[in-house]
Amino acid sequence: MKNFNNRFALLGKDFYTSLAPQGLPDPYMVCVSRAMADALGLNDEWMASNEALQIFAGNIAPQGSQPLASVYSGHQFGVWAGQLGDGRALLLGELETANGNFEIQLKGAGRTPYSRMGDGRAVLRSSVREFLCSEAMHGLGIPTTRALAVVGSDMLARRETNETTAVVTRVAPSFIRFGHFEHFAYRGENEQLKTLADYVIERYYPECKQATNPYAALLAAVSNRTATMAAAWQAVGFCHGVMNTDNMSILGLTIDYGPFQFLDGFNPAHICNHSDEQGRYAYNRQPNIAYWNLFCLGQALMPLIEQVEGDSDAAQATAIKALEGFKIEFPTALQAKMQAKLGLPNAIDGDKILIEDVLKLLAKERTDYTIFWRQLSNSVATNNFEPVRNLFIDRATFDIWLGQYQRRLQTNGSWGSPAHAACSDLMLRNNPKFILRNHLAQTAIERAQGKANDVKDFSEAARLLKVLETPFEEHADCEDLAGFPPDWASHLEISCSS
Ligand code: AMP
Ligand code: MG
Repeated sequence: MKNFNNRFALLGKDFYTSLAPQGLPDPYMVCVSRAMADALGLNDEWMASNEALQIFAGNIAPQGSQPLASVYSGHQFGVWAGQLGDGRALLLGELETANGNFEIQLKGAGRTPYSRMGDGRAVLRSSVREFLCSEAMHGLGIPTTRALAVVGSDMLARRETNETTAVVTRVAPSFIRFGHFEHFAYRGENEQLKTLADYVIERYYPECKQATNPYAALLAAVSNRTATMAAAWQAVGFCHGVMNTDNMSILGLTIDYGPFQFLDGFNPAHICNHSDEQGRYAYNRQPNIAYWNLFCLGQALMPLIEQVEGDSDAAQATAIKALEGFKIEFPTALQAKMQAKLGLPNAIDGDKILIEDVLKLLAKERTDYTIFWRQLSNSVATNNFEPVRNLFIDRATFDIWLGQYQRRLQTNGSWGSPAHAACSDLMLRNNPKFILRNHLAQTAIERAQGKANDVKDFSEAARLLKVLETPFEEHADCEDLAGFPPDWASHLEISCSS
């Protein structure tokens, strides 16, 4: 791993602090994403080398890298939190690859000037969760930061209990967050704010340069990407858990996997983060929160928008208009996703109600969200609706919906016709069989920790990764990873502590 360039570092000292990673003693490789390594042009032999292990443990900085912790601020749980920053993440630099440029970041490689009360470390539990979920989201086709590797160590960190530590290597075109913009805006540092915005536009949103107001165009583009991401979350039943503005990517990527959860039974008001007492980040509030966060980004960009517009009233109006895109893009994207889940490529009158009605049924019975959609897909493929029907207690009510749905499906072609087969294919490509349920992650983590018989076993994490990378495929030998959650799963408490 060489040929780093460090374009973020060129922004200047106001944006970061340079510092070397503090590594892990006696590291061992826990997880590797071969797909990610491939995309970066890193071969298996090198990934298995001691050099790779030491780099991903933070023990040596790769040639040409320029490790730095960036500074950002943000709103946490709706309240201005002031300066935050990379408290335990270090950007090594950027690799130029055949598949584009990727920044490489180590998470958990020691304290930085932005660590505040934290120890700069990440525990194995949260690192494996972040690694698996990054790759799972990518497999689901949801915009996300990626993960290359997890390296573990027996060194302990204090959380609710003592836990072993790890470093997760994250990969993304950029790790810039809404909070980076808020940081300079709050401090009235408009020059730095402009430098940052120009950098992001130049590198990631070049089409905005042509707009009358490039900064408003940036806000509109980020709003659209965030809407697409939020729609994908809702459709798959993903709860992020900590949608603070410092956890919102300027590229509309899912970032900072902490207390996230995929829904088991469908409960729209589900709160996955045990630290979120008010339910600010409940599943059904995510779209509104995404919009609220975009509003914060809009506020941060106001000085730049105003510089172009010339007066504050015009700037306000322009910014509001830029944000409006979310209100169109989110419902449009969600509707398209739900249509695909139902195997109905072209929306017609009544489809919206069909979707609303089935979600009401799922909510009433807390039906398993993922299993329902996959069973429905299989039922449409085989024309046998008994297995999906059996998921419901109130079958009479389900039958009413099913009748309406079957009549609607018929308009696309009857069973056995190519048009009908296209519908079931669409469903099987949009309703995953495998998601990263909490209990699956927990089992893989406990094996990796060596909890059962004192032997660290990383094979369960690898097996899980394999199905999550291609979650729409059958993987007939992994049925145990596609079932209902066991009773103990509902007692797992996932908090911000990581
Ligand atoms: P999060 O809620 O994980 O997105 O983190 C919020 C802020 O706390 C960020 O600035 C993190 O870098 C910082 N942080 C979280 N955990 C730690 C830790 N163990 N050590 C240092 N900083 C941390
Ligand atoms: Mg964060």
